[in-house]
Amino acid sequence: MKKKPSEKTLSVSAIKDGTVIDHIAAGSALTIVHLLKIIEQQNRVTLGLNLSSRSLGRKDLLKIENRFLTEKEAQNIAIFAPQATINIIRSYQIQKKIHAVLPAIVEQILVCPNSRCVSLYEPIDSVFFVEEFKKQVQLRCKFCERTFARNEIKHYKIQL
Ligand SMILES: [Zn+2]
Repeated sequence: MKKKPSEKTLSVSAIKDGTVIDHIAAGSALTIVHLLKIIEQQNRVTLGLNLSSRSLGRKDLLKIENRFLTEKEAQNIAIFAPQATINIIRSYQIQKKIHAVLPAIVEQILVCPNSRCVSLYEPIDSVFFVEEFKKQVQLRCKFCERTFARNEIKHYKIQL
């Protein structure tokens, strides 16, 4: 995707040090705020909701100052925003660009929507196998073996 330089400057270089997460599907930014425990850590955060995007139509954008995401955190973000781009900024420059890559397995975070699933009743961590089909994330529960679209999973436990 081509970007005009002005657009890039706007979305990326406004913070000195930290992380800019761009191309988050509209509506998913707040989930990522919770996922990363940003509020508890008191980093300065700029949140853009429903911005226009050529590739997504609408998108969310998140800038977190003085926080540098790990690969593991980037993978967890990919579960909620598979097309997100993560820019690590140091001294106003993009030091590293991480394309959020889905992990093969998601443990602990998601709660199985199948109300009869054993994972809800036993003291075990949920485990989902991640599959991508036509750019849609699908998750298969290890315990009940049912497959869900990402947006069918409404509940999650965040204990990173
Ligand atoms: Zn299940």
